[in-house]
Amino acid sequence: MTTKSAAAAARATVYGYPRQGQGRELKKAIEGYWKGRVTADALRAEAARLRRGHWQQLAGAGVHEVPTGDFSLYDHVLDTSVMVGVVPERHRDAVAADPLAGYFAMARGTQDVAPLEMTKWFDTNYHYLVPELGPDTAFTADSTKQVTELREALTLGLTARPVLVGPVTYLLLAKPAPGVFAGFDPLTLLDRLLPVYAEVLADLRAAGAEWVQLDEPALVQDRTPADLDAVADAYRKLGALSDRPKVLVASYFDRLGDALPVLAKAPVDGLAIDFTGPAAANLDALAAVGGLPGKRLVAGVVDGRNIWINDLSKSLSVLGTLLGLADQVDVSASCSLLHVPLDNTVERDIDPQILRWLAFARQKTSEIVTLAKGLAHGTDAITAELAANRADLASRAGSPITHDPAVRARAQAVTDAYARRSQPYAERAAAQRAHLGLPLLPTTTIGSFPQTGEIRAARADLRAGRIDTDGYEERIRAEIQDVISFQEKTGLDVLVHGEPERNDMVQYFAEQLTGYLATQHGWVQSYGTRYVRPPILAGDISRPEPMTVRWTTYAQSLTEKPVKGMLTGPVTMLAWSFVRDDQPLGDTARQVALALRDEVNDLEAAGTSVIQVDEPALRETLPLRATDRPAYLAWATEAFRLTTAGVRPDTQIHTHMCYAEFGDIVRAIDDLDADVISLEAARSHMQVARELAAHGYPREAGPGVYDIHSPRVPSAEEAAALLRTGLKAIPADRLWVNPDCGLKTRAWPETRASLENLVAGARTVRGELPLS
Ligand code: GLN
Ligand code: ZN
Repeated sequence: MTTKSAAAAARATVYGYPRQGQGRELKKAIEGYWKGRVTADALRAEAARLRRGHWQQLAGAGVHEVPTGDFSLYDHVLDTSVMVGVVPERHRDAVAADPLAGYFAMARGTQDVAPLEMTKWFDTNYHYLVPELGPDTAFTADSTKQVTELREALTLGLTARPVLVGPVTYLLLAKPAPGVFAGFDPLTLLDRLLPVYAEVLADLRAAGAEWVQLDEPALVQDRTPADLDAVADAYRKLGALSDRPKVLVASYFDRLGDALPVLAKAPVDGLAIDFTGPAAANLDALAAVGGLPGKRLVAGVVDGRNIWINDLSKSLSVLGTLLGLADQVDVSASCSLLHVPLDNTVERDIDPQILRWLAFARQKTSEIVTLAKGLAHGTDAITAELAANRADLASRAGSPITHDPAVRARAQAVTDAYARRSQPYAERAAAQRAHLGLPLLPTTTIGSFPQTGEIRAARADLRAGRIDTDGYEERIRAEIQDVISFQEKTGLDVLVHGEPERNDMVQYFAEQLTGYLATQHGWVQSYGTRYVRPPILAGDISRPEPMTVRWTTYAQSLTEKPVKGMLTGPVTMLAWSFVRDDQPLGDTARQVALALRDEVNDLEAAGTSVIQVDEPALRETLPLRATDRPAYLAWATEAFRLTTAGVRPDTQIHTHMCYAEFGDIVRAIDDLDADVISLEAARSHMQVARELAAHGYPREAGPGVYDIHSPRVPSAEEAAALLRTGLKAIPADRLWVNPDCGLKTRAWPETRASLENLVAGARTVRGELPLS
């Protein structure tokens, strides 16, 4: 490859790095501080040490420009709120008294004061703290954190680029503060916010920043013309500032669409653009607007949110095309590396033949550096890297793990009829009524019962070899006995075994399916100090043996009442795992669905008459762009139906989703064709029941009457009142009585009392029904 001389300076950079450290030192320090075991100074020192280590890791790997300000003790959106002076009224005293303690109070709440709301960062599994704004919000600049961290990096002799959440995205991520009318549009505050950003930019320049990155991922979502006008306005004003560093506007997670021409025209100095996955469309779009003459382009060609190695020669060809479209082309990951684990070389249990297919943050950094080198000096400069990469890619493509002929043939043979129940709902419902003999307003739970310290200790004992499998299973059986006998005593109608054997609703199944990998150290931040280890969908998926039948039938053997089988659905299995990038998501979903279908059928054959397939992630996996949603919902609902359609008409299929706002997927929920759906509703006073009714939802539903997110025990009268509200929308022969979600995070005392009240409330309302 011959490259233009302009590319000789191609640089490697990233937008952010995993925060926690290899041994999750940050988590330990922060939680130690919360418990009073670590002083504020010690926490700050540990954080600085970790930042230094990350920068040295990056620079040591050959990254030319390191990010600063991306590090956080809790969340970068909360850091932005602090930077612009947005502290809710209820936290002001705490923040004034002790900024660090006040910061954590905003994040986590205190005994008396509620935290900020937390929600998902776009379509990732990272959660940010939602800024609360209103017409009276006054912004004030506090650039301390950004300036301090920039100085730390500069002191190490590094070239550093502060990374900030951009002003438009910050406002679009916000919501009206408590007491502010719901229709308040935070974007109307833009003119007030921009001077604060101007001040921060000036401070960063004074501290030595040549470039500052402003992240605007909200621009990859569908935006109104008014939003885009606001973007144009914001960057016209920021661009016109005299005392500012060079500004790089970054977007990621999807294509820019209509925002691309707006940004391309803006008087900023560079754009960082995602060219991976659906964002690959940015390439043609960029050419169509005539490129970025006079600007710097940072090309996100390495997937920053998945764990597969890059196809280096493919990326080089994209970069080669981009060379003609901007003044300067640098190389990066598509987004911050926050969304992937730190380093795969510490994994001991993954087959080395598979490990070579994986790239975590450190490995991605090397890929970026290699690509920058190849771009700057031609492919001859990276011959060895390209050869190794080709071999690794070939190993993955040719592996029997990624291509199991039996799995593929089965998925290929799926027909529409195979994904449909044999009878329509009305007929099934009659058969189920006869088979199950349940009362009106049947009571049930969502599946899990309290995961007590003893259960977790038993699992830890098993892992550490202090007890053997028999000893562990003995404890699980004892727990199931307790759970069943409690439910019988309390008078619940459809029982559950309580899921004591499950560490996690996805991992438990992933561990038992062929084609799935688990990591030992692959931690990724979910929120604050909570980290998860998503399993990896690495190959074709099959189920060597039944996964849940033993525990479910054991529970059933203890009672005459029906025990509900409990499975995690295919969409949720994908949503909370790293997915394959070598085949369409729908193909992976179909494989998982077929494996789960076998489990559903085996449960039925073993005598289980009610089977619940949880899909709490159905909505969160919705693509960011509306045009992509119908295709997603088509494969997602097909996967659910494939999982569940193989049962007899008199076997009752339940599903569960734990959220209340599902307006945009209510049709998809209908398409699942589940006999019963349970949903979160307690806090919204049965709003979902009304929404389901408005949609003409024809099947049974259990809007939650017990808010399991709090230790508060609802009274029987409260449960009854919610049921009466529910009955206004859903007829008595289609209304179920259940909590909002599983009880695994609750303690036994409140669980006991709440479920007793729930059953009492159901009995009261049953007594009020007209005799038919
Ligand atoms: N069956 C699971 C439980 O009860 C469902 C959890 C969920 O919806 N997230 O814990
Ligand atoms: Zn739930």
